[in-house]
Amino acid sequence: MRDWTNLDKNYIWHPFTQMKDWLESDNLIIERGEGVYLYATDGKRYLDGVSSLWVNIHGHRKREIDEAIINQVHKLAHSTLLGLGAVPSIELAERLVRITPDNLEKVFYSDSGSTAVEVALKIAFQYWKNKGHESKKLFVSLDQAYHGDTIGSVSLGAIDLFHSIFHPLLFHTLVIPTPFPYRNPELTTHELKDNCLNNFRKIAEERGSEIAALIIEPCVQGAAGMIVHPKGFLKGLELICRENEILLICDEVATGFGRTGTMFACEHEDVKPDLMCLAKGMTGGYLPLAATMVSNQIFEAFLGNHTEYKTFFHGHSYTGNSLACAAAIACLDIFDRDHVLELLDPKIKFLGNCLSERLANLDHVGDIRQCGFMTGIELVENKSLRKPYPAELRIGTEVTRNVRNYGVILRPLGDVVVIMPPLSIENNEIETIVEATEKSIKEICQI
Ligand SMILES: *Cc1c(COP(=O)(O)O)cnc(C)c1O
Repeated sequence: MRDWTNLDKNYIWHPFTQMKDWLESDNLIIERGEGVYLYATDGKRYLDGVSSLWVNIHGHRKREIDEAIINQVHKLAHSTLLGLGAVPSIELAERLVRITPDNLEKVFYSDSGSTAVEVALKIAFQYWKNKGHESKKLFVSLDQAYHGDTIGSVSLGAIDLFHSIFHPLLFHTLVIPTPFPYRNPELTTHELKDNCLNNFRKIAEERGSEIAALIIEPCVQGAAGMIVHPKGFLKGLELICRENEILLICDEVATGFGRTGTMFACEHEDVKPDLMCLAKGMTGGYLPLAATMVSNQIFEAFLGNHTEYKTFFHGHSYTGNSLACAAAIACLDIFDRDHVLELLDPKIKFLGNCLSERLANLDHVGDIRQCGFMTGIELVENKSLRKPYPAELRIGTEVTRNVRNYGVILRPLGDVVVIMPPLSIENNEIETIVEATEKSIKEICQI
């Protein structure tokens, strides 16, 4: 067999990776998957504890999705949506409109979470222009937000480690504070939520005539380290948006497709965004596909004679790809047929119990944050002082590397260990992940 580990080192530049470390490490190369497991060229099997970076929903090699793609290949792999329609893209759009909040009625396809966000922000910007409100061109985003890696979506993000280098390339945004209870122990969660809402209300009332939209990761800010917002925060933001004619964009790229226990996180607070970004889990983790959902009110602002230039001039070569749409339809069919969301509730509770029984009392576990199947375990040097580890120790990376010895793949966000398994995982496998995490934390943090 060829030496894939070395060939990889010869040819691949990995994303979000210090390649010097990579070139000096023993890296896993995956060659096969089955259910919640990945099989590597070292001959071993690993539980996919982060759903292949938050995308996988029903497991790998899911028969129905495999077959849907194969059937579609026999008809057509791809044709453009520029000037033509394509059957699977229509069928999927109808399904998406049916399952998202009922004001969302049109689907604009693209290929990744980042492009879904780019599309949302360009639509929001042009919407106000088309309506004759030239001054409404500012965006409000949350502290620690992550909306993708293209320049527009980076402009909306606020994670210094990823974003500060590119600062000169970015457009200016207004950033409002994120309610993060673990970092604000002096306030009750309720006070913290009210402070953050008041902050936004002040900005909205003073500068509403300049603000196009607020963008938010609803209920949980994933890449920031699984910051779970207090109940009522999202609803509060929505009301302030409505009172001040600010569009609400919900970036459900991470939270969508069941990840927080409901199909979309917006449903927890009965929020109806004007625009919604979908990607990651949409094809069950099979193929790159994204959608930006919009209300009719927004769609109609783009209608006009050709020379009014109200057209939305944006599109990608693979927009609405038929294979990806076929995979997404099969993925939604499985949600219905297998009652995935109903079965998820007890698994979420089981995960919560495992986390509190096995991890909550460990000396170096400062905080456990969970929203459905999105979980973050924050490691700290000193628990009572909430004092972080020195960054150079790379404790999160060490713990998640070590957990591979127990047959589990995890990837941290800084010193936050993320557990985000496919929704198809069984309770005994959840226990395996949490037990492996416990052992690894004990070994690396030397309790
Ligand atoms: C992952 C993510 C994105 C970016 O999606 P890509 O497909 O990686 O471009 C955008 N927003 C959120 C909330 C995400 O978690």
